[in-house]
Amino acid sequence: CLTRKRWTLENFDVGRPLGKGKFGNVYLARERESKFILALKVLFKKQLEKAGVEHQLRREVEIQSHLRHPNILRLYGYFHDSSRVYLILEFAPKGELYGELQRCGRFDERKSATYIAELADALQYCHSKNVIHRDIKPENLLLGANGELKIADFGWSVHTPSSRRSTLCGTLDYLPPEMIEGRTHDEKVDLWSLGVLIYEFLVGKPPFETKSHEETYRKISRVEFSYPDFVSTGSRDLIGKLLKHDPLHRLPILKVLSHPWVLEHSMKPPRQRKPTATATEGDTA
Ligand code: ATP
Ligand code: MG
Repeated sequence: CLTRKRWTLENFDVGRPLGKGKFGNVYLARERESKFILALKVLFKKQLEKAGVEHQLRREVEIQSHLRHPNILRLYGYFHDSSRVYLILEFAPKGELYGELQRCGRFDERKSATYIAELADALQYCHSKNVIHRDIKPENLLLGANGELKIADFGWSVHTPSSRRSTLCGTLDYLPPEMIEGRTHDEKVDLWSLGVLIYEFLVGKPPFETKSHEETYRKISRVEFSYPDFVSTGSRDLIGKLLKHDPLHRLPILKVLSHPWVLEHSMKPPRQRKPTATATEGDTA
């Protein structure tokens, strides 16, 4: 069992690098006793301190280690030595969704709707635990052995509600008006990002992309975007219902899962419901 134990680097054989993060690298690794394959994320304490993000890392670990969902990357545990912090993560064999989008240019409706259904299901689960991710974008979505989507990188996640005005480093492309304008926000920020992502899957680039930060900011706060001709009526309907300036007007996550476009195109079967008390053994119905 990977979850409760004191770990040290000695417990692992470390293999090839899987990717580069802001504060260190991620490696393929194997737990020596069980031979369990996993990903080891190595972060340098010096760099974490310098950037003042220790609290953020603690929150990432605290939140991600308690989530259990097939479309959320598991965080099994962590340990540290004098200079580094190590996160023990589920290995996502097919890598970043971002890479796949780059290879394909854009996705067809079937692939897009399947990813969106997986993502919406995972977000519904997070929101039921009062966790908002706040950093949903293709680079933070990994792919499992069967191509299933896995949300990773809970570095910006928080418990709701939040009014933290964090320094918005990096791209604005996926952030909703209330976040770029520094207002309080809640789980409905993830609904906006979901709308941005559906658009990006189908079109190949995010809806508010421009050459400058200022221009993107303006387009987001005015909700200014347009569709290429090939985008279907059904997907436009869903995107339009998520990219609403007022968070209260955005389609709730459960209605995303039951939206006609998702139901028509998604290959993901609707979530299995637990058997009810009336369904007894030997029931042939
Ligand atoms: P950034 O904020 O710049 O995205 P980060 O510090 O948050 O970096 P991650 O995004 O967690 O780092 O990881 C960096 C890269 O390593 C990922 O984009 C991905 O390519 C790869 N990677 C991370 N975790 C895994 C994993 N569990 N399985 C496979 N690849 C992974
Ligand atoms: Mg990342």
